[in-house]
Amino acid sequence: MMGDRDFRSIVENAISSIGKELNIEIDSADIQTIHLHEVVQCLRRSYYDRIDPLEIERRGFSDLLSGLLRRLQYGSEPKEFAIEDIRLKGQVDMLVDDSIMLFRGTAGELDNPLANDVLYLNACMWIYDKSDGIIVYITGDKKESTFSISRNKKMFEEIIRRVRVLNDLLKEQKIPILEPSTECSECQYYERCFMKKKNAKHLDLAEMLGFGNKE
Ligand code: SF4
Repeated sequence: MMGDRDFRSIVENAISSIGKELNIEIDSADIQTIHLHEVVQCLRRSYYDRIDPLEIERRGFSDLLSGLLRRLQYGSEPKEFAIEDIRLKGQVDMLVDDSIMLFRGTAGELDNPLANDVLYLNACMWIYDKSDGIIVYITGDKKESTFSISRNKKMFEEIIRRVRVLNDLLKEQKIPILEPSTECSECQYYERCFMKKKNAKHLDLAEMLGFGNKE
């Protein structure tokens, strides 16, 4: 708190407002259009986002990087890929010299690209019909890790399978199964899938195993 004003919450509100502006707009009722980001993340999360959404908590401006670039549209109009009567819709951050580029904010330098970013980039290479793709991760202290990827058909077939699954479950109004991963700890639906965070107890493992300090 500084003076009468809580500057932290002012900044959080600002980030949240910009985030809402930059979000890819989804028409929840149009289940024949599936957005690529919905199938590279947990399908249950995407289902809740459409049927009974909770607001996501954004933690910093790095979360907004990709959305800001998409909004500037460096040659990257959204594109659709037909899967029978379903449209898979994707949008890249940038198209440069016939290569697709994605930019992501990250806490630290990475040895490997994140799996959902690889799936997203690979699918974009099929949707935009390009053979080269690059993901650039940028940390808060301006370090970058860059990875280049060639397109892979099997990986895209997995995306197509997930598009069909999400479409079917939305039609049948059935909640997708849990997909436990590191994504869960930051997911706004954690308490629906697992337990109320406030009920979690701190367990002293040493004490439980009888190695507690007896002095
Ligand atoms: S908590 Fe995990 S399993 Fe549940 S919706 Fe979120 S990402 Fe999916």
